[in-house]
Amino acid sequence: MVPQPWCVRRLWWETDDTFTFELTPENGLTILRFLPGQFNMLYAFGVGEVPISVSGDPAKAERLTHTVRAVGPVTHAMGSLRRGTQLGVRGPFGTCWPVEQAAGKDILIIAGGIGLAPLRPVVYHVLSKRQRFGRVCLLYGARTPGDILYARELSKLGKDVNLQTLVTVDRAGRDWAGYVGVVTMLIAQAQFDPAYALAMVCGPEVMMRFTIQELQKRGMRTDAIYISLERNMKCAVGFCGHCQFGPTFICKDGPVFGYNTIQHLLTIREI
Ligand SMILES: Cc1cc2nc3c(=O)[nH]c(=O)nc-3n(C[C@H](O)[C@H](O)[C@H](O)COP(=O)(O)OP(=O)(O)OC[C@H]3O[C@@H](n4cnc5c(N)ncnc54)[C@H](O)[C@@H]3O)c2cc1C
Repeated sequence: MVPQPWCVRRLWWETDDTFTFELTPENGLTILRFLPGQFNMLYAFGVGEVPISVSGDPAKAERLTHTVRAVGPVTHAMGSLRRGTQLGVRGPFGTCWPVEQAAGKDILIIAGGIGLAPLRPVVYHVLSKRQRFGRVCLLYGARTPGDILYARELSKLGKDVNLQTLVTVDRAGRDWAGYVGVVTMLIAQAQFDPAYALAMVCGPEVMMRFTIQELQKRGMRTDAIYISLERNMKCAVGFCGHCQFGPTFICKDGPVFGYNTIQHLLTIREI
């Protein structure tokens, strides 16, 4: 429960409101192994502590990478941290994306906006063990071209024959030559066998709901669909009950859930 001091090594802005930073442990010894989809509690000293998913490569645990959208006091404070300043880290917490169950199957990684951050470790993992999986599709939607996260990385992935990467934006000017429209429209073009596929979906809840409907239209069963839920949380270990709904704690039973087990919570914003 006690945050450990980590040090900001690099911080860069991905878009106008979203930055990525890399942290190393202050004592130089701690290695924080995480599974794709897990999150840490990051503490901006004197301001507050918030849950943020790990967005880096799970095979490179000596550096912690997080991508954060600056929306309020804590995340804004983090965005103004300088190289060398300290941050408190507790974690990793929560459930992970079902990368083991996905072995031998086609994989759909579908993200909207900042939802690509928790799914990025899945992309790294899958590419590092590519022969274990069938076809892999990465579908990503952002509001505008300027809001696309990891733009350079996505354009590299777009040329990688090991996966099908499709990116769309809600609206764009004439200088955008890619898709325009919501991310669900890309599902029709994704190459996968619905009977042998597993989908991992993260984004705004309305996006996840429509994505699930489209996947069902393509013939996917809902027990092969996994989503990540975001809810305000405090302790992250199931003590405080802040994110509890009935028997379910989003912090320790989630944030990644099989859709069938959690669909009743999708419409409830604050719990
Ligand atoms: C498991 C988990 C993983 C997350 N991963 C990431 C991530 O990788 N990158 C990232 O940018 N954000 C992530 N978030 C959301 C992040 O925790 C919130 O944006 C952050 O707590 C906002 O804190 P603040 O003090 O800056 O703003 P606040 O003043 O607390 O909030 C500003 C606005 O954001 C809303 N908000 C606050 N917390 C949440 C939340 N948890 N979910 C939805 N809306 C919220 C508030 O209602 C308010 O409208 C994650 C949340 C959870 C639960």
